[in-house]
Amino acid sequence: MVGMTVDAAGLTRFDHPNLQANYERACRRYPAQAIVDLAALRDNMRHLVEIVNADPAKPHRTEVMGVVKADAYGHGLVPAALAALAGGATWLGTAQAHEALELRRAGIGPERARILTWVNDPYEVPYDELLRQHIDVSVGTPDAVEQLAKAAEAVQRFVRGADPIVAHVHVKVDTGFGRNGFTLNQLDLIAPRLKQLQDAGLFEITGQWSHLAVADAPDVPEFVHETDEQVARFEEFTRHMQEAGIEPRIRHLANTAATLSRPEIHYDLVRPGVALYGYEPDPAMGTPQDYGLTPAMTLQAQLSSVKHVPQGTGLSYGRVYVTDAPTSVAIVPVGYADGIHRSASGFDRCGSRHEDRKGGPVAFMTRDGVQVRHVSGRVCMDQFIVDLHGDAKELGIDIGDTVQLFGPGRGEAYGEPTADDWAKAADTISYEIFTCLRNRVPRLYRNAASVLDADDLAMLDQNALI
Ligand SMILES: *Cc1c(COP(=O)(O)O)cnc(C)c1O
Repeated sequence: MVGMTVDAAGLTRFDHPNLQANYERACRRYPAQAIVDLAALRDNMRHLVEIVNADPAKPHRTEVMGVVKADAYGHGLVPAALAALAGGATWLGTAQAHEALELRRAGIGPERARILTWVNDPYEVPYDELLRQHIDVSVGTPDAVEQLAKAAEAVQRFVRGADPIVAHVHVKVDTGFGRNGFTLNQLDLIAPRLKQLQDAGLFEITGQWSHLAVADAPDVPEFVHETDEQVARFEEFTRHMQEAGIEPRIRHLANTAATLSRPEIHYDLVRPGVALYGYEPDPAMGTPQDYGLTPAMTLQAQLSSVKHVPQGTGLSYGRVYVTDAPTSVAIVPVGYADGIHRSASGFDRCGSRHEDRKGGPVAFMTRDGVQVRHVSGRVCMDQFIVDLHGDAKELGIDIGDTVQLFGPGRGEAYGEPTADDWAKAADTISYEIFTCLRNRVPRLYRNAASVLDADDLAMLDQNALI
């Protein structure tokens, strides 16, 4: 395997001096790094492709879309997209149009992957560019239908050829999310117009699709019922479209939660996002390992200070944390300006004003192996403090040491904190932990050379490979 490995003593080793130079340059540039394992992304996708096609009696294959919106949930748009394709994804999905265009610009052509984009202001989105780049578009409002029709007409007028450009349209229907998509009444009104645009050769109605609201709670009966209702409404929408003479070629509904837990609604295509990055959508569903997934991102930082303080020392703003014994404290030089949630602050010994609450976990390599400590006091803009609960010298913790905030592990209880543990500390979801990570934290990619072929490898920033 080519790339970086960390041995049992916590030492980082590289297979190639260029990769080591990249790593050292990143560490000099910034005291924290987000390391993304492309092999984990590929393997997560492979696993998803396998599980949606596990039933040999199924009459057709279900394709898998790698959802790479929001800079691939903070992992880096193009590297994550390429790893997803290496794992067998045939579709890519972005919310914003500019990211769909960026994928094409990077060199991911239409023969390689279909791309769907879905969030747009129909009066501003560059439909003409999307059409020329063979990017599928979602419509969920009458305005979007008309603006897209105008763009399709214009593009057909200017781009002549044997193969006229047709808008590949996915009709979004609102089955109970209350967000994007036509209501049933709206669909009935717009359906004749869609049929007309299809017959005129401007639209190909490629898909019918919708989004689920509570599929991540298979343990809550009323939510299971609500998902059943959404599925029933989805089928009703299909009947209405058929009655209007529209036969969408494919239908898709499943996010990660439904991909993992509801094979009966995989339809023709599933749209997992968070599973690609190695997480289940909600810890109530289990751990990533329960689903055969590996978290792809490791967030690490280098300690900028380690010192000894007496008992009764208040740590950080507001003295919400006061040391209960003489102890060593370490400074981790990332804060809320890096996307470390301030709500993951740690409260202790603050009397009646606050309840004690553990902050986000940090794994330290000590003389006795890996040990987890927690954010102590409030997370600051560029740094936070950790009470080591002991003497740094005895623990073998020193300034400059690399500590891990989260990584590919099994969870805090095993000394391997994950984004789920940070989500718990910050009262949010893992999605927000990695999408909030700011771009001033360098993204570095492991295993690129073993996952990608030479052409794909050339699409990446060569300085970001380790
Ligand atoms: C984000 C998103 C997904 C992926 O959701 P996950 O829970 O990350 O799997 C799927 N479909 C749509 C429309 C989305 O916006």
